[in-house]
Amino acid sequence: MSILSSAITSGTRKTLYPGTRALEPDLPPNSAYCAYLELCGSVHPRIFHADEHDIDFERIDADALTVIRRLQEAGFTAYLVGGGVRDLLAKKRPKDFDISTSARPEQIKHIFRRQCLIIGRRFRLAHIRFGKKIIEVSTFRSGEDAEDLIVRDNQWGSPEEDALRRDFTINGLFYEPCEHHVIDYVGGWDDIHAGVIRTIGDPVIRFRQDPVRMIRLLKFRARFGYHTDPETEKALIYCRDELAKSSPARLLEEIFRMLESGASAEFFNLLQHYEFLEMLFPWLAHFLDTEYGEEVYMLLNAVDRVHKEMPPDQRLDRSLLCACLIYPILESEVDVQYTDKDIVPNLGEITNLASTLSKAVASSSFSQFPRRQRMATNFILTSQYRLTPINQRYYFRAKLVRHPEFALALQFLQLRCDHDPELRPIYEKWVEAGRDAGPVDDESSQRKRRRRRPRRRRPRGDSG
Ligand code: ATP
Ligand code: MG
Repeated sequence: MSILSSAITSGTRKTLYPGTRALEPDLPPNSAYCAYLELCGSVHPRIFHADEHDIDFERIDADALTVIRRLQEAGFTAYLVGGGVRDLLAKKRPKDFDISTSARPEQIKHIFRRQCLIIGRRFRLAHIRFGKKIIEVSTFRSGEDAEDLIVRDNQWGSPEEDALRRDFTINGLFYEPCEHHVIDYVGGWDDIHAGVIRTIGDPVIRFRQDPVRMIRLLKFRARFGYHTDPETEKALIYCRDELAKSSPARLLEEIFRMLESGASAEFFNLLQHYEFLEMLFPWLAHFLDTEYGEEVYMLLNAVDRVHKEMPPDQRLDRSLLCACLIYPILESEVDVQYTDKDIVPNLGEITNLASTLSKAVASSSFSQFPRRQRMATNFILTSQYRLTPINQRYYFRAKLVRHPEFALALQFLQLRCDHDPELRPIYEKWVEAGRDAGPVDDESSQRKRRRRRPRRRRPRGDSG
């Protein structure tokens, strides 16, 4: 056993970092942790003081600071962790501020009482509510022992272990707001400043433990334009097929987050380049190789532009983002089946085609999309042929304009205008029609109307 690992198992690690209060003195030794420490070569974290970094304190969410302060007042260690610290150092606007602490979930609950909700079965997390905003607080935990897919529950750990179980060095930094210093157990400081993405520990093991990390790697590349460390890059190609083992729900969430990130076009480009798209959305992967493929990227570029201009707490509806991936496929099918043969399809035919296509795309994909989203996506797709009919005969019908999802269909048309400016006057006319049409038919009034419709009774004596 190395000096480093024996320091941990004998409990001397408590004194290694003076700012760390004594945690669980009887933590079981964790072999994966010892292995990581040997790889990292040091137990001592590097501390970067206020005069060494230029984190803008004003950018830190005041509620996150309150949570840290209250945990510290109650005698616990608490840091800002992960993506928030990375973004502050990289001078980007953080999307969320996560906190890690030595307090266990029940202790967090005791401090924040009704403001706190404990969630998660496999690993319990605390959600602290500030109105609509939620600050996520997790207890320091140790990494995975297994070299393969993670199957067991995680265990509580120390701050060092918590840093080492994270995915990439750029995501493994802590920030202590009272002292205003950055704590680095994993070499994340150097990697952020050099623009390098590197797994914490052996990349092959880390990708096998959780293949979603490969998709996360592409997300950080797309968002920050960083390079991948050569070993990590090799492992990304070597472990590609492991992706099939990951949870579809988690993958879907990462993909949606990317569609909302302002760098979705580059992300899909990387997914295609590393042949992950073939595994995730085979239809889309094949389509991107055709002459129509470019249109998907044009729509994603429009989506990215909108997200970059939006306030941080707003996003385009996810059904709209799905429509960006399917609409160009629908257009090409309409061309092949109708317009190339000089046939103008009627709306029923378009509706059938759109719904068949969405089903085909969805059923071949790695994950099921929520039903409401699928319905809204279908509406957005088919209404494009009413907003911009192939025969250019426009009917500004109030029924369409008052539909609850009309605003989404219109927003999609606006995205199309981005690369087809000739559509803009038509878009303006629909905006005007929307203003003139009065209130939207909300879904509840539609339901009421449906319920009031009398049932057709069978004529007496008809048994057939
Ligand atoms: P974003 O800016 O998209 O929120 P993020 O890095 O903050 O990116 P989150 O999903 O919010 O991503 O995760 C918060 C932190 O949790 C990460 O920074 C990382 O330290 C850790 N983390 C997230 N996913 C994993 C994973 N699959 N394996 C290990 N650590 C992870
Ligand atoms: Mg985050």
